[in-house]
Amino acid sequence: MGLASRHNHPMPAKPAATPAKTLSAPQKALIKLGLVRDIDLALHLPLRYEDETRIVKLRDVREGDTAQIEATVTACEITMRPRRQLLVTVDDGSDTCVMRFFSFYPSHQKALAVGNRIRARGEVKGGFMGLTMMHPTFKAAGGNLAEALTPVYSTVAGLAQAYLRRAVITGLNHADLSETLPPGIPWPDPRGAWSLREALQFLHHPTPDVSLASLEDRSHPAWIRLKCEELLAQQLSQLTAKRERDLLRAPALKHKAQGLYGQLLKALPFGLTNAQQRVGREIAQDLARQVPMHRLLQGDVGAGKTVVAALAAMVAVDAGWQCALMAPTEILATQHFAKLVGWLEPLGVKVAWLIGSQKKKERAAMLAMIESGEAALVVGTHAVIQEHVKFKNLALAVIDEQHRFGVAQRLALRGKMQEGGMEPHMLMMTATPIPRTLAMSYYADLDVSVIDELPPGRTPIVTRVVSDHRRDEVVARIGAQLQQGRQVYWVCPLIEESEALDLTNATQTHADLSEALPGVMVGLLHSRMPVAEKKAVMDLFTAGQMGVLVSTTVIEVGVDVPNASLMVIEHAERFGLSQLHQLRGRVGRGAAASACVLLYGTPEGGRLSETARERLRAMVETNDGFEIARRDLEIRGPGEFLGARQSGAPLLRFADLETDSHLLDWARALAPQMLDQHPYLAERHIGRWLGGKSEYLKA
Ligand code: ADP
Ligand code: MG
Repeated sequence: MGLASRHNHPMPAKPAATPAKTLSAPQKALIKLGLVRDIDLALHLPLRYEDETRIVKLRDVREGDTAQIEATVTACEITMRPRRQLLVTVDDGSDTCVMRFFSFYPSHQKALAVGNRIRARGEVKGGFMGLTMMHPTFKAAGGNLAEALTPVYSTVAGLAQAYLRRAVITGLNHADLSETLPPGIPWPDPRGAWSLREALQFLHHPTPDVSLASLEDRSHPAWIRLKCEELLAQQLSQLTAKRERDLLRAPALKHKAQGLYGQLLKALPFGLTNAQQRVGREIAQDLARQVPMHRLLQGDVGAGKTVVAALAAMVAVDAGWQCALMAPTEILATQHFAKLVGWLEPLGVKVAWLIGSQKKKERAAMLAMIESGEAALVVGTHAVIQEHVKFKNLALAVIDEQHRFGVAQRLALRGKMQEGGMEPHMLMMTATPIPRTLAMSYYADLDVSVIDELPPGRTPIVTRVVSDHRRDEVVARIGAQLQQGRQVYWVCPLIEESEALDLTNATQTHADLSEALPGVMVGLLHSRMPVAEKKAVMDLFTAGQMGVLVSTTVIEVGVDVPNASLMVIEHAERFGLSQLHQLRGRVGRGAAASACVLLYGTPEGGRLSETARERLRAMVETNDGFEIARRDLEIRGPGEFLGARQSGAPLLRFADLETDSHLLDWARALAPQMLDQHPYLAERHIGRWLGGKSEYLKA
């Protein structure tokens, strides 16, 4: 895991290069799940368990239970109403149950003939006709019962549970599960340490006498062992990265109060908040050192991170170096560019910009300016990290909305420094933070600065949750806002991740609102529009000529139009909590009282899910991004590993930063000791847990 290899292979290791064609569908699905090595399979722990260790009596079954019964078939018939189905009635002596099959074959009828005794498993529902099971699994009665609970794993299409179970057992048998924890270390759980092998064997196939609650809430000692292992791997990997980084060099950028830094400060139309001044000092101290800065700037939406980045850039420029600022979307990059040009060109600082859809000629001019060093600051999207972009002397790289970027992209930006043996200083900015105290101990490899104060004069945003049935009232409210000279965002949701559908929906809403609000300019913005058109729409909205902007989530991050005071989010129940908070942050940026309306729709006759309701409630109850982050962790729980990774939150599968903070403390204390005294064990431990993914934690 040396530095050299990191630079040569910035991407996480790919699974072994077997030609894709020779892989079966389930094998491909395993790779998709990241289950490549034996140890990956062994560490793929069950989502839940089914109990096939016993037969229950129908009389004792509660509605919603998944039950295994043995019973005699008393009726077996095909009905056509309400649609063609096979109805099988069984009796186990305590009660009867009707089993329904919507798809069935003659073999079903044969196996389920009247008089046969069968063993069936399925979820039991109550109802008008008494107990029912939909599509239970069944076989002839008798035979052995399972000795352990049956694991149910998270899976993907094309990968059956049975196949996955066998694969996991194979992985478990072949994986090297030898001890990597140094002997004699203190254990954070009074119930004592389980070995990794014992813990994994148990969690995959627990004995039926276990308290299911202790498996579910992950308080069982076997779970503790796994969580400790995971947290230790994470801490070891980050600490290793930190130690490697500490050996690197970066140009020491000495702060000059009299230079551009001071001039920008003077030229700004506002004074910095105390929090901005404090984080500015923290960054300046880092930049003055010869070791590359690796700092995360957390600040709620609207806290004013951009200006802090601009000031940091001026420190670099004052010292004769270049700075790059990378943003995740073209709209955001364009806005940053406009704002920074406004601030910096009067000071004589040249700003270049790079986006994917730029005209060839313009791009060539920009590339030349960047390579010659004429442009001191470069703003752009992913276009900034493309191969052919050459900097003259990059010393500071700023990544806005860093959670939206992948690791490879962050590494690529770091690699843009030409000077041998040096790395640029890195400033990463994000508004979807994890609670500060957690961030401090979790990110062993990152220094964290927090802007915990909003600029003065903002009025808190009032948030309301409104049923979609009352859409008309919301439209009326839009009219009222427009009359006061205000502007409005209307956000349409992602439908089943299909861009095409998104678009139909947004287009329809755009048409409806245009009709309902005669004389008002209503604009439409979506990700498929050509950039020039997007820009034209944004310009009209920014200039205040356009009253309402209907958009898909492209406006999600960073957009800054202080006159906008109302945000309507349609089908808010489909958004994640931090996404809702980011969206809401587009209003409340000026002095006017602002509001956010969360429209929700319910599936026909259905209800909102409990977590959807909790998310909406959290939005009404708090405007504080840190509190939102805390609730988000709480609502999502530790299980949603992938979702969490996408939203930039912790990369943990098993441990929960909030409930397991004592385990984190344990891992944090142990990691440096282990690296110093047992480097070989440490390396094996990291390899076991992170394999090729350890790069993820470094960037
Ligand atoms: P974010 O932290 O979400 O990126 P921005 O940097 O976009 O926030 O800032 C939000 C708005 O607040 C911008 O219009 C910015 O110019 C303004 N702003 C930043 N700092 C201050 C301040 N100290 N006083 C007043 N307005 C400020
Ligand atoms: Mg921003």
